[in-house]
Amino acid sequence: MADLFESDSPVETAGFAHVALERGIDTSATGYTYAVPTVLADLTIGERVIVPLGRGDKRVAGYVVERMDEAGTSHRVKPILERDPHRVSLPADLVELAKWIAGYYVCPLGMVFGSMLPAAVARGTGSTVRTMVRLVECEVEAKLTKLQRAILDAASPEQWVEIKALADAGGAKTTGPVKRLIDEGLLEVKRAETVISDLDLRAQREVEKPAPITLNGSQSKAIDHLVSHIDRGFGVHLLHGVTGSGKTEVYLRILECVMSESESGSDITHHPSDIIHPGAIILVPEISLTPQTVARFLARFDPERVAVLHSGLTAAQRHTQWRRIRDGRANIVIGARSAIFAPLPRLDLVIVDEEHEHSYKQDQLPRYHARDVAIRRGQMADIPVVLGSATPSLESYYNAGVVASATHAQNPKLETRNSKYHLVKLPERVAGQKMPVVETIDMIEERRQRRGIHLMSQRLEYEIEQTVLHKHQAILLLNRRGYANYIACPDHRCGWMMTCDYCDVTAVYHKDKHLPTGGVVRCHHCGAENLLPPQCPQCGKRVNTFGLGTQRVEEEIRAKFPGLRAVRMDSDVMRTGRDYADTLDAFRAEQIDVLLGTQMIAKGLDFPNVRLVGVISADQSLHLPDFRAGERTFQLIAQVAGRAGRSDRHAGGGKVIVQTFNPSDPVIGFAARHDYEGFAEREIALREEVGLPPIARMARVVVRDKDHLAGYERIKTLADHLLAWNEKLETAVRLRGPAPCPIARIAGQHRFQLELLASPPEPAARLQKLLTAVRNTGMLVSDAHTAIDVDPVALL
Ligand code: ADP
Ligand code: ZN
Ligand code: ZN
Repeated sequence: MADLFESDSPVETAGFAHVALERGIDTSATGYTYAVPTVLADLTIGERVIVPLGRGDKRVAGYVVERMDEAGTSHRVKPILERDPHRVSLPADLVELAKWIAGYYVCPLGMVFGSMLPAAVARGTGSTVRTMVRLVECEVEAKLTKLQRAILDAASPEQWVEIKALADAGGAKTTGPVKRLIDEGLLEVKRAETVISDLDLRAQREVEKPAPITLNGSQSKAIDHLVSHIDRGFGVHLLHGVTGSGKTEVYLRILECVMSESESGSDITHHPSDIIHPGAIILVPEISLTPQTVARFLARFDPERVAVLHSGLTAAQRHTQWRRIRDGRANIVIGARSAIFAPLPRLDLVIVDEEHEHSYKQDQLPRYHARDVAIRRGQMADIPVVLGSATPSLESYYNAGVVASATHAQNPKLETRNSKYHLVKLPERVAGQKMPVVETIDMIEERRQRRGIHLMSQRLEYEIEQTVLHKHQAILLLNRRGYANYIACPDHRCGWMMTCDYCDVTAVYHKDKHLPTGGVVRCHHCGAENLLPPQCPQCGKRVNTFGLGTQRVEEEIRAKFPGLRAVRMDSDVMRTGRDYADTLDAFRAEQIDVLLGTQMIAKGLDFPNVRLVGVISADQSLHLPDFRAGERTFQLIAQVAGRAGRSDRHAGGGKVIVQTFNPSDPVIGFAARHDYEGFAEREIALREEVGLPPIARMARVVVRDKDHLAGYERIKTLADHLLAWNEKLETAVRLRGPAPCPIARIAGQHRFQLELLASPPEPAARLQKLLTAVRNTGMLVSDAHTAIDVDPVALL
């Protein structure tokens, strides 16, 4: 077998292994074949190893995904070099999950592992590795020096000591003599790795105990349903609860139920560390993962058993959290998207809060959707998965089988497919609180009646006044940063408008009093900056800035309400998670009257003193060239409206003012009436008519190139291949394009797209079949030019 190796010194082997390389070079879905040297015979699936790659035998990291007796190839096979220096390994169930992700999302397997394992763990950030030794009790046959005897005398068979300490104790200047004793077999060695970090979850536990909660009827019913399904294996439960209906309380109770098993099942004959506790993952959108959210969980569970994973952690903290989970010390994991890869030794329940959130989809390789991965992980582990939202994604709602009854009649096949999920409803708010009253303001009418330019209508101004007068608080939403998003020549005959030099989008003016120029023009897609031109470059007239931005609303508020304590919250001012948490604390402490911001303020916040919510422009996302524009608009309005009137302090309940130039648009109407079902029925019927998700399944391929023609040719070739295979396999997938993307150029790269759509029956399976076949020919590869997005959520 030695001739299989390229190296001159043949190594004895203990079989072979597939290793998925962490770097993106490995485009395969299975990994590369390596030989397993006998010293590594006990390598297990999921272990991180170092292997040689390429002509230069570059050392690269990878994961063992399969062990084999035969190499299954006639090529020369190189040996695995060594184990990962930090002894990192992923559990076998995550290896299986990674394989599924690499296949389904058409991405390199090694890259999936790269996403699963936090970089801090791979690098060993914050950890110290010490070599510990102790005496082996045996007859000493070897001839020893005086120094070696002194060292052995200082060692004990009972106690592990650090190698350096033992050398010191024996009077040796280096660890050399100790190492020779190890080689003689007189001392035993082990590695001890400790990770130290300063994340103290106990400190995050809120001091005051929350008041005990009496569940309402819907909550009790929901909990009963979920509890009765805990031991029934895999199932997806969609918890559709209006804003303020107490969904978190439902999550907490079911978690308590799952966790209680560890106490009842405890057995005194077991060593406490032998018990594998039940495990649970709670996914929360990054933006909602505030100290307040975490505190609600810490108030119910022992902080020693809770791990938190989010982007605000230091590398060492992230590493510690991961180790605590992997070692079975923390068994309740709360985290953002990538927490779905928590390496729990045992998993009993997954909860995905705000399941409709687009931030669950990763917008770079691997382009996975954490909700869908959660469902897959739940299916593999045969456990229940709970999806919660006030505005479920149409994908989930459709799977719960409550809409499109017309569809059923036409296509009986859908009927079975369509009740995949259980639907659990919380139709009313807790403690008898009412949904806020929503008033729609026609901004065209407003313009007719009022002189000057006003971003806030008279009605909204009046309600702000009333709110502050009664010492309540308000939230104002405008989902665009900056001051003005149009910079243009005032002369229509000239028509000049400032666009980014590198992207096909308009540039946004940002005021900045720290700059000598008073502001800067910025591109929100590539970040390029310019000065505001004083005159039109074409005709020399003074340029106008118009359009909406949070800075401009802030300016108007300060001008109209000089005494008001208003704070702007968008990613321009909230640079870190700390800024965000501090501002929310100040708002909670009622040191702020009006919080104005982008969608950042629309999500999940629970502030009882907020009486008023104002939507400055409901139209912003309504006309985007994306088939989910209506769905997004509905969700955003419904979610931000849900921040109002969450206590009984407000006589008459909360108030929501929605400003729009499209007052008769049905989407805005449904949102104003809190009618999710109505919205969903209509929207699903529309999507069905044109064959879009959730009825159909979609994949999108985007090709980019600095050269316009090269880009087009690249995507044209790809389209031809897909078409040919589509015919050959009879997968009946529709191809739309190639066509320029809605934003045809970003950062100097021309962009072209192909949309692949598969309609029922079996849309996902047929789409997968086509993608897999073309991928296997080597024609469909994710690289610097090509992005493959399966189940895309963003289409610009
Ligand atoms: P949602 O996530 O559905 O918007 P939350 O779970 O944030 O709602 O609950 C809103 C508030 O209501 C929280 O402060 C929670 O403690 C409280 N709450 C939950 N259930 C009840 C109940 N049955 N009675 C009174 N208050 C409740
Ligand atoms: Zn740009
Ligand atoms: Zn001009």
